[in-house]
Order: sequence, then C-alpha cells, then structure tokens
Amino acid sequence: MVRVVPIISRGMDSNVYVIQDEKMAVIDTGAGRAMAERVREVAGDIDIIINTHAHTDHCGGNRFLGGRTLIHEKDRTEAEDGTFYRTTFLTGALAGIDIDQTLKEGDVIELGEMKLRVLHTPGHTPGSICLYDDERGLLFSGDTLFPDGAFGRTDFGGSDAEMLASLERIADLEVETLYPGHMAPVTENVREHQEFALESARMMFE
Ligand SMILES: [Zn+2]
Repeated sequence: MVRVVPIISRGMDSNVYVIQDEKMAVIDTGAGRAMAERVREVAGDIDIIINTHAHTDHCGGNRFLGGRTLIHEKDRTEAEDGTFYRTTFLTGALAGIDIDQTLKEGDVIELGEMKLRVLHTPGHTPGSICLYDDERGLLFSGDTLFPDGAFGRTDFGGSDAEMLASLERIADLEVETLYPGHMAPVTENVREHQEFALESARMMFE
C-alpha cells in the first residue's frame, strides 16, 4: 500500500513529501537539519531522494539523510558545485551535494506500486521538474506550480518564457492532488489552481 506523507514547511524549508512504497522515497529535503530530523522520524531509512531542483531550501537536508540522490541533468552542476543558483543566502553556505543519477524528460522512477514520471518543467530553474503519477492523479510540482495563482519566481536561475511554457503544459494534466514545493497541498478543484497560475503568468510575461 502506497502512502504519501506531506511534511509541510515551517519557515525557510520547502515542503517534503515522503512516499512509503516498496522503496522509501522523499521528494526534496528542506533547508537543513531541523526539517531533516522531521523527515527521518517519518521515513526512517531512505532509499531515494528526488530533488525537484537545485535550490538550497529544497536540497539542504540531503546531507543529513542517506539515499540515492536524483536530480535533473540541467541542475546537476549547480547542486554539485554548491552554487545552487545564488540561493545560499537562504540557508547559509552549503557544501555541494552528491548526485547519483540524473533525470530527464520522460524518465519513470519506479518505487514499487507507484511510478513517477519526470516532467521537465524549466522556468524556476533550468532543470526544474514535476513528478506525475498519472494512475492516481498526483502531481508533485516543486516550485513550478503553487496554489491560488502563484508560481515559482524566475529570478534565481530561471526564465519567464520557460515558466510560461511549463505552466501551459501542466495546466492540461489530470490532477486529483497537487503537492506543491511550498504552501499546502490541494485536493479539491485542482484544475482551477492550474488555470489560475497560468492566467497569472500570462498577465506577467506575455
Ligand atoms: Zn526553488
């Protein structure tokens, strides 16, 4: 039986999503030790860490949690070099993180029952990804799509035009539950949130 346990951010951390399946996986790890300890209580030994992108508030807990680490190929260098698209001011200097495997559009991460498809959705950073379980209609949207008309900022390694294209792309997905990188998950009328963010981006960037 698959279970998704959201660990919602307090302060600087991103949200973290623990997926309990045949493999124990976490999506993002927060900014540092405090969130990592909360994650450890829920997840125990972790098999796989998937980072949605290389910003410190999503990768800062990696060093406190073991596990095979996956990130999109375009964010690999920023993660390994410890430059994190100039976001270290959020969390203080952070050593680069070790990446075991890079991801690209269309990859499928098999956790057991759950299979997560990698959607390359640049705009927030060049290698930002969303993870989509089409069977259950679950979308882990990182810092690409947020609820209530919000979306990730584009001024830390990102691109306005790419953000707009990515939001257009994910507006069409069938989503039952949206698990964003910040703010609370959404379980009702998700399509409204998908469309609202796209409308906001069109007003700003078109
Ligand atoms: Zn970010």
